[in-house]
Amino acid sequence: MCGIVGYTGKKQAYPIILKGLKRLEYRGYDSSGVALLKNGILNVYKKKGKVVELEESLLGETLEATIGIGHTRWATHGEPSDKNAHPHTSANGNIAMIHNGIIENYALIKSDLLKKGYSFKSETDTEVLLNFIEDIQKNNNCSIEEALRIALKRVTGAYCILLIEKNNPDTIIAARKGSPLVIGIGKGEHFLASDASPIIEYTKEVVYVNDYELAIVKPDELILKNLGNETITPYITKLDMELAAIEKGGYEHFMLKEIFEQPSTIFDCLRGRLNSKESLIKMSGVDDNIEQILKADRILIIACGTSWHAGLVAEYIIEELCRIPVEVEYASEFRYRNPIVNKGDVIIAISQSGETADTLVALEKAKENGAFIFGVVNAVGSSIARISNAGAYTHAGPEIGVASTKAFTGQLVVLMMTALVVARHKKSISEDRYNALLVELEQVPEKVEAILKNADQIKTIAEKYKTANDFLFLGRGYNFPIALEGALKLKEISYIHAEGYPAAEMKHGPIALVDESLPVVFIATKDPYHEKIISNMQEIKARKGKIISIISEGDTISPDLSNDYFCIPIADELIAPLLTVIPLQLLSYYVGIAKGIDVDKPRNLAKSVTVE
Ligand code: GLU
Repeated sequence: MCGIVGYTGKKQAYPIILKGLKRLEYRGYDSSGVALLKNGILNVYKKKGKVVELEESLLGETLEATIGIGHTRWATHGEPSDKNAHPHTSANGNIAMIHNGIIENYALIKSDLLKKGYSFKSETDTEVLLNFIEDIQKNNNCSIEEALRIALKRVTGAYCILLIEKNNPDTIIAARKGSPLVIGIGKGEHFLASDASPIIEYTKEVVYVNDYELAIVKPDELILKNLGNETITPYITKLDMELAAIEKGGYEHFMLKEIFEQPSTIFDCLRGRLNSKESLIKMSGVDDNIEQILKADRILIIACGTSWHAGLVAEYIIEELCRIPVEVEYASEFRYRNPIVNKGDVIIAISQSGETADTLVALEKAKENGAFIFGVVNAVGSSIARISNAGAYTHAGPEIGVASTKAFTGQLVVLMMTALVVARHKKSISEDRYNALLVELEQVPEKVEAILKNADQIKTIAEKYKTANDFLFLGRGYNFPIALEGALKLKEISYIHAEGYPAAEMKHGPIALVDESLPVVFIATKDPYHEKIISNMQEIKARKGKIISIISEGDTISPDLSNDYFCIPIADELIAPLLTVIPLQLLSYYVGIAKGIDVDKPRNLAKSVTVE
């Protein structure tokens, strides 16, 4: 996935790049590196591990240069190591390049280059592309820009690349397809990065580079071209983001900050859209396309990871309220399995970053077949937001912790409001039920606040179970996807194996795992099938499993069956997932901390999954 940063201007490039890389570490932290160019000398520094390790290794170095590029890696081709770290330098040492993405036909190109006598210092696909560019430049005696254009027409896969060249003292050349690139426009300087977070401190004017575009960036000049060498006018956007939003604000970790931000992010998501006194939800993306949505025979939801869990909750809600059939698909499966997508199908795409590679490609495919794409995205201006026919932002603000928390609750709120708008138009919901749910939604921020006040109770539970080897999470109905989400969060953040299951389904297999060492988390809030889940608790208790339950205030039965329990405010069963997920986020956080794990950067993961 990787994070990339570039700078050309009058300031010192290294501090700007280093700070930018730290902000982009959510995209990968296997290794990092910088290339700095001064007086025709190209200096490259790289190191396995997190950015801070690069920083420490460079203490005391003179790193003067006003142009440079930097990279923080999530390895795809070649293990995390110093030699596989970016930037890579070309065989003749003239070019330094960083890359986010995968060059799929690298093996073929590499074998051609090997035959020509090239040797490789790393195992990466990136170095292959770089030497391919060098080879084209040599054979055609052309500029690097021209060589890059030729090379890119011949590679398949995804890339965002930045390169600098020894004899091109102030120019960064960039290109993208499938991996994001933003260019910040300053006075006599330009900033390039995978997202706006490294840029926001210096300028709010940015250009989002599109697929198959090439940028030639000098301190005072930005030229955008397509692969056919035609010049394109850059479209300048104003960033609507504050620096404080991407800093920790006194919290020990981004994940904790983001969990605790949820009362305000949910409020921001509702603000200006929902007004229970006027019985109104305004969502222009839904309102303006209501005919299109109402005539759909079915809705397909496409997502990955935590967003896929939000999709599952939405399936239950939309089918209940709108009576439209819904299918939820993993984007990575959908895109390769020749799915049936018809003209007029409505596809809801859910993604925090709006850059998830699998989701993006799945959408392109569906759009070709005439589907109508509705994007539920957090990152404003991202690729999925732009490819969608309509959509609604989750307004959760930048999410930096690798485990998604506030973006998930934002997705649930948007999907819930979308279902309510559609159901009302369709008249598949009574006015009373509609109004009651509006009131309930408006109360969510304060209920989340109330849950967070008791975070210490979860911390105590986390301490008690931190040494478990496995966890089981069980829920029914709307809380079943929350069981999946609770298990995923725990796996990501604490490295404890965990499984989520529909509570009744556990009898068909997982119950065999139950003994006195297995903690079983029940999400067992008051709903029409509460008695059923109580029976499931009995079944676990009878087999000596340790029961941790998330229950509704006033529940007098579950505490007796549980070894530990946590109460959440009473809520309608459709709203409950927005509340029940909060203690599970806290549980994974506190178990992770108790085990000494870097919860913002758990091993092997990266946040914005821009590779397949
Ligand atoms: N494929 C490149 C590598 O392994 C870049 C990885 C990425 O962007 O995730 O180094």
